[in-house]
Amino acid sequence: MTLYRNIMIILLITLGITGCNAEKPQENLSAATVSDQRIINADHEPQNWLAHGRTFDQQRYSPLDQINVKNIKDIGLDWHFDFDTHRGLEATPIVINGVMYVTGSWSRVYALNAVTGRLLWEYDPKVPGKWAVNACCDVVNRGVAVWQGKVYVGTLDGRLIALDAKTGKVIWDVMTIDKKLPYTITGAPLVARGKVFIGNGGAEFGVRGYVSAYDALTGKMVWRFFTVPGDPKKGFEAPILEKAAKTWHGEWWKLGGGGTVWDSMTYDPDLDQLYIGVGNGSPWNQAIRSPGGGDNLFLSSIVALKPDSGKYVWHYQTTPGEMWDYTATQQMISADLKINGKMRKVLMQAPKNGFFYILDRKTGALLSAKKYVKANWASHVDMATGRPVENPKARYYDNPWLAFPNPLGGHNWQSMSYNPNSHIVYIPAQEVPFLYAPDKNFKVVHPGVNLGADLAAASMPDDKTAKRQVMAMIKGHISAWDPVQQKELWRVQHPGPWNGGLLNTKGNLLFQGNAAGTFVAYDSRNGEKLWSFPAQTGIIAAPVTYSVGGEQYVSILAGWGGVFPLLAGEAALKSGKVSNNSRILTFKLGGRDKLPPWKYTEAYFPQPPAGTGNPKQIATGNGLFHHFCSSCHGDKAVSAGVLPDLRYSSALQDDRWFDITLGGILKDNGMVSFKTALNKKQLEAIRQYIILRAQILKRSKESNNK
Ligand code: CA
Repeated sequence: MTLYRNIMIILLITLGITGCNAEKPQENLSAATVSDQRIINADHEPQNWLAHGRTFDQQRYSPLDQINVKNIKDIGLDWHFDFDTHRGLEATPIVINGVMYVTGSWSRVYALNAVTGRLLWEYDPKVPGKWAVNACCDVVNRGVAVWQGKVYVGTLDGRLIALDAKTGKVIWDVMTIDKKLPYTITGAPLVARGKVFIGNGGAEFGVRGYVSAYDALTGKMVWRFFTVPGDPKKGFEAPILEKAAKTWHGEWWKLGGGGTVWDSMTYDPDLDQLYIGVGNGSPWNQAIRSPGGGDNLFLSSIVALKPDSGKYVWHYQTTPGEMWDYTATQQMISADLKINGKMRKVLMQAPKNGFFYILDRKTGALLSAKKYVKANWASHVDMATGRPVENPKARYYDNPWLAFPNPLGGHNWQSMSYNPNSHIVYIPAQEVPFLYAPDKNFKVVHPGVNLGADLAAASMPDDKTAKRQVMAMIKGHISAWDPVQQKELWRVQHPGPWNGGLLNTKGNLLFQGNAAGTFVAYDSRNGEKLWSFPAQTGIIAAPVTYSVGGEQYVSILAGWGGVFPLLAGEAALKSGKVSNNSRILTFKLGGRDKLPPWKYTEAYFPQPPAGTGNPKQIATGNGLFHHFCSSCHGDKAVSAGVLPDLRYSSALQDDRWFDITLGGILKDNGMVSFKTALNKKQLEAIRQYIILRAQILKRSKESNNK
């Protein structure tokens, strides 16, 4: 009897322990029943990755530990899925009951069997190729939200769409933007309180930021919160905007003002608050945007809103009167932490500006702020006022300023990961310099970026020694950050920046894909490298982990792209040359799948035409190129593995150059006509500039061959 009872107890314990892992598909845990309550209780179903950050608190920590530090060496690729696109992949998959819901580039949505990688359905919102010119940072998308049998996606051209999770059929489709303006959506929607929250991007082009809430069932708009005030003569949409308008000068509304909420939002079920991360000013240069200065609320702020009404609760501004593209759109992690001996409900953010902030979620009060990377625009944050103590020279009104961080930020959208037991935050951090110089001839253009900063001045130097010095300053790392002490415990150094988002697990593992094209597992306690996989492409997205039928999987989107390889030219080659091979890679213990053999090959470099440009024309071309072209075609016309390198283009040879740049024959690929912004003479100057860059490349190839 005792033996029988003991066996039963052992059996029950075994079932109890693995019970939450050895799940069979359960209808009650399917996509059809995802609710706030299920996401709040996400730890009761650790096999599923229910929401963008797994949980509402955006911690990106998984309680699964079947794969752990002891057996990580035994994991292998189990399946891969090839996308038929070749642009950046930034999405976090959602996995529920053995089904993976994920977005690729161009806002396309895919549902896959999470065990086999078999495609269940695909939805293409058919974003017009020409809309790509409104995207600062590649035609990327960071993922879907799933709730009550629906899959929600925001599209690059500004729509919010609800799909049937079973079939991929459209349930509703609403336009969230004014199509006359260069708005884009790349962020994942957030669903809570029966509403879908969505923001947008466009602050490099001249828009006004806002967040909207839509009824998750019907798609009807419930409220909209603008992050910057509009024209005061037209009245204010919310009382708080009247106060915010006092922090602005000039006629900012004509320039848009910026403040787009293009990535992070966090719902707080404890306090029933929605936190939104607000972006940079538009244009960047405050002397143009708000002559006379001012804090320019709510740029670069975290704003707390009531999710049911959109009513303002509190805000904290990280960078008052920002002018360096220092967005506060980065991930906001909520947690309970003991600060100065007292338990606090906190919100943590490592925004672009280089400081790690801890706020009290109830009040928005600043609890602490310390630099997590090199930052020279401010010495520290004054705890009495909550404001940064700036270096006055950093405001490049008249003179250039060599800054850390650069517009990529000390940390960007790539997800951090937080361990709620050890209280360590893992930050995909980077240190990159940038010369901010005023654009003395600013005028609003379309297409093209409207920054008020001169990107040509910030170009990579030609001089070999100077270039070597700049390249040596460009770095990236993982920082294991203790938020209570506000200090780094250890770091994993990378050759360059723009590495992927992070995931840490109960198995003491920390996963990251990187810019050099490798997916790596580290010991999350000390950063020791335990396992790696050559991914054949740069990785920027964050991994997830889930379990089906008692087996744990780790999955990641691999596909080089985003703003860095589009814009940064040679700097974006710091970690080595990679290209875009867009895939989902999924691993498990004993996985035996193999990628097809592949080797990086240089594109064929044709003989460039002889240039006819004189120095004045080429100087004009240089300025125009870096105003209109470099944000996609790279600093100094150097492409870093995503878009074709213009120096290799046969269109430099003849009138096809004008068919493309004026005639718009490649608009469906994203290359629109620039006839509204540039005339033929100016486009010829740009052509002569690129021919010169091609000639320089030719000479360097010849001297390397000698
Ligand atoms: Ca920006």
